[in-house]
Formats: sequence, C-alpha cells, structure tokens
Amino acid sequence: MMMMKKVIVSGERQAALVEMPIPRPKADWALVRMTVVPMCTEYKAWLQGPADGGTIRALGHEGVGEVVEVAQPCGVEVGQRVVLMGAGPCGRCVYCRAGDFLHCPNQTAYAEYTGKPEPTGAYAQYRLGAAWLLPTIPDDVSDDHAAMAWCGLGPTFGAMQTAHVDAFDTVLITGAGPVGQGAIINAKFRGARVIVAELEPWRSERAAILGADAVVDPRDDDVAAQIRALTPEGLGVTCAIDCAGVVAAQRLCIDATRPKGRVCFVAESSDPLPIRVSPDLLRKGLTLIGQWHYSVNDFDALLHVIRASSPQLDLLISHRFPMSQVQDALALSASYQCGKIILDPWA
Ligand SMILES: [Zn+2]
Ligand SMILES: [Zn+2]
Repeated sequence: MMMMKKVIVSGERQAALVEMPIPRPKADWALVRMTVVPMCTEYKAWLQGPADGGTIRALGHEGVGEVVEVAQPCGVEVGQRVVLMGAGPCGRCVYCRAGDFLHCPNQTAYAEYTGKPEPTGAYAQYRLGAAWLLPTIPDDVSDDHAAMAWCGLGPTFGAMQTAHVDAFDTVLITGAGPVGQGAIINAKFRGARVIVAELEPWRSERAAILGADAVVDPRDDDVAAQIRALTPEGLGVTCAIDCAGVVAAQRLCIDATRPKGRVCFVAESSDPLPIRVSPDLLRKGLTLIGQWHYSVNDFDALLHVIRASSPQLDLLISHRFPMSQVQDALALSASYQCGKIILDPWA
C-alpha cells in the first residue's frame, strides 16, 4: 500500500506528521498530488487542541496540485494543474450549477465515498477532489498565485462581485489578516479607494504596503467619524467589508457606511450583532450581504485579479514552511504577524 504524510493535531499546541495510505479515486473524483497548501484558520484548532483527549485527523481545506490519477474519463486529465475546491458538493443541485458549491445541501461524506472513515484534510501530500470542482490553472499562473484563489482572494472577491465594487467606491475593510489583505488586493484591482481598520502594527503596515489609501486604528473612540471624514462630503464609505469577525468591527462597518451603501460580512462569527431596523437599515437604506465564498463559475474572472496582482500576491504570501515544520508555521499563524502562510507538503 502506497503511503503519504499528513498533519494531525494530537493535543493542545501539538501538531505532528503521520502516515496514511494514499486515497484512491473512483467515479468522477481525481487524485491530486499537492504542491502548495495555504494555511487558513487551522491555528484555532491547534491552540485549542482536540476535544476529550482525541485527535484531529484532518486539517485545512485549501490547496493546489497536479492530477496524478483518475478512475474514469472525467473533467480533468492526469498532468493538469488544478485548484482543489472541496470534494463533497453534488455538482447537480441548483447551488452547484450556480457555482455556489459551499451551499450544496447534498454533500457526499468522504467516508461514504471512500469506504474509509478518515479524510486526508488539505495538510497532506495527496488529496481527492471531485473533477467538476477542480478548475485548471493556466500556464501563465504559478501554483503559489493560483493557491490564492481560495480564502486568500476568494471570499472578498465574492463579496465585491455581489456588491458590484468598482472605481467609484470607497471601501472600508475591517481586519487586515490574510482575508482582509486579499480584500485590499481585490478592491485596488477594481480601482476603489480603500480604508483599512486594523489594530495589529504588522498588519497595519502590510495593509499600507498593499495599497490601502488610509489605515485607521479601530480602538480610537471616534473611529467611525475618522473614516467618514476621509470620504467625499463626509458621508461615509459606499461599501464596507468585515474581515475581522468581531462585533465591534461589524458595528463599525454599519456606522461608517453612508446611506444607500452596502455592508458585506465575510468573516465567520457566532456572536450576536445588535441591529436596529429603523436607524441602521430602513432609514439608512443599507444593503447587508453575507458572503462565504465566491461562485466557482467566476474562477476565470478571479484569474484576472491574480494575473494583474503578482507583486501584491507575493506580499500576501508572507511566509512559507516545509510541512515538516508545521508546528512553527501554526505558531506563526496564531501570532497574527503574517499574511497567507503556505506549506510545502514534500519538505
Ligand atoms: Zn449540490
Ligand atoms: Zn481557508
């Protein structure tokens, strides 16, 4: 049986490499040899550790690689470079056909599909993907840059597609973590003016380097007024995108957006955000948008952003680590002193 390495979390702040059999494709799934694995929010599981002394046996969801095996003719061929977008969505329902695969109600359980209880996660040397969700990477786009088509650029690209952000907009971005940094790149690509609210010095500095026109400190008492003062006639931004996932930032997005503006939420949060219908929505005419990701049918449009933003993407990818040093990589990720960190699963 051919074996591969993957990452598990065995305790609080304890990640390790283990071996498992390389999964085999069947039906219209393909086996992908991973080349670039971007890190996302996995540091949270690492900080917390598994529940009840168990083991977290699959980490991560982003990645790029090369198709090395298919079970039957399907949408991809051996040798093609692809972005892995997940395996489970059915590909047939109304959401999948619209490219909004994360909303698919008919997810295939990995274990059901493979007959094995153990998924690989993305922090692994090989992974299975449904062929219809493996967009191919053009020759002029590197694996590193294509890997930003997941959470690096994807959620805020989706938000800006839905909110129709363009060069007439002044966009507020709350939180300049990896997703917020991707938001700056997306907004500048569209020609918008960008104001960033961020409190971590490393991230504030990086936001400015990536092209933010102004960076404010959200801890200032009058931060909403400060932001409004930076906009035409002091009315407020035309669009705000919360990439922080904290209530104070979500509130700031509503307060700093001018009447008839759009407010997008892309950062996960389960804390309640108090909204007053009359002053916040009705009398302000705000449009609130919840955006988890983007339609994969817009992948070619996102490639335009990727092609035009090479220098910025080289900054968005702030660090790289061999997967064998995943402990150090997770510690850096948890420190917030970074953009996107990518792992090399073969080193
Ligand atoms: Zn579906
Ligand atoms: Zn992600």
